Amino acid sequence: MIHETHHIDTRLIHAGEPEKRICGAVSLPVFQSSTYEYAGQSSYDELKYIRMNNTPNHEVLHKKLAALENAEAALVMASGMAAISTTLLALFSPGDHILVQDCLYGGTQDFIVSDFVPLGFQFDFIDADDPASWASKLKPNTRGLYVETITNPLLQVGDLKALAAFAGANGLIAMIDNTFATPVNFRPAEWGYDISLHSCTKYLNGHSDIVAGAVIGKDTLLKKIAHKLIHLGGSLDPHACFLLHRGMKTLALRVRYQNRSALAIAEALVAHPAVDRVNYPGLPDQPGHGRARELLEGFGGMVSFELKGGLEAAERFMQRVTVPIVAPSLGGVETLITRPATTSHAGMSAGERQAAGITDSLIRLSVGIEDTRDLIDDFENALKK
Ligand SMILES: *Cc1c(COP(=O)(O)O)cnc(C)c1O
Repeated sequence: MIHETHHIDTRLIHAGEPEKRICGAVSLPVFQSSTYEYAGQSSYDELKYIRMNNTPNHEVLHKKLAALENAEAALVMASGMAAISTTLLALFSPGDHILVQDCLYGGTQDFIVSDFVPLGFQFDFIDADDPASWASKLKPNTRGLYVETITNPLLQVGDLKALAAFAGANGLIAMIDNTFATPVNFRPAEWGYDISLHSCTKYLNGHSDIVAGAVIGKDTLLKKIAHKLIHLGGSLDPHACFLLHRGMKTLALRVRYQNRSALAIAEALVAHPAVDRVNYPGLPDQPGHGRARELLEGFGGMVSFELKGGLEAAERFMQRVTVPIVAPSLGGVETLITRPATTSHAGMSAGERQAAGITDSLIRLSVGIEDTRDLIDDFENALKK
């Protein structure tokens, strides 16, 4: 049994698990069945079927994810983008206007600009660091606010407290993509957010072997999203549910290790003469550092940096490192390294990237769970003349 007083490490293991273990099984088995015997359900949404996202493998995750963020309810989905697109299409109607942070995950920004707007929705960008500018962006039809806890790839932390208060004061649904922070470092419901979104592909699963997403938040909103989900069909496959469930149990161990390792690596990079600039919210010279200290329990496992010598130096470094794998994506047990201009942000034009402060030579690191000393040694060797 899980109690209100149990901490996140205990909740990760026990929250949402069936009260009576199925055939005594300690690990919940995969229910590889598309349909289930009719049990007198009175509505379509309640039929047990994989697309209804309501098999035992889904339900354990829904309860566990809600418990991790101290929220009312949760839903898993087929990917982070399924969670984001289904949420926006469920909570808003054509003609509605939303405010969105001006440096979102590339897929989210592209969905809003290329799909949401042609369907008749409206949006305006806001600077999450400039509360004085937000009121002028409100319109009579503004209904929502969408931000990210830690931005990609510059790893900035906006004024998250003021954003939630602004949404509350103006009747907006406050949504936050909490992928980079994870429920270990930040729990949006505790700070006034109505909806938290995750790409579970990243830290929640943590093993780079599935794609999955989640929406966590207010029960009334989650019911609407669940109904839209069964129409759009972005439900998570039970086997992927099983892998996510297994991966999640070690979330707190992994994330706390990654918090410590990323901080040590960021500090080593700052001290290195070949490094020009390091972005990491845990460094005292970063603009959002005071805020990050107040809001976050850890600064996360993502670091980005630029070398002296620009693009050529960046390419040489990426060819020389031996421990990290050169690959996009993040949040797994293995350290991954990428240049956002060629991967995560390749969908933006060169002009858009420049305006957002993403240079071609910027390197992004997703710190895994290898020994920190091996990573720092590897980076020092790669930086040798
Ligand atoms: C990866 C990512 C997404 C999209 O998730 P998928 O699982 O790839 O669909 C959304 N937001 C952030 C911050 C991400 O890093």
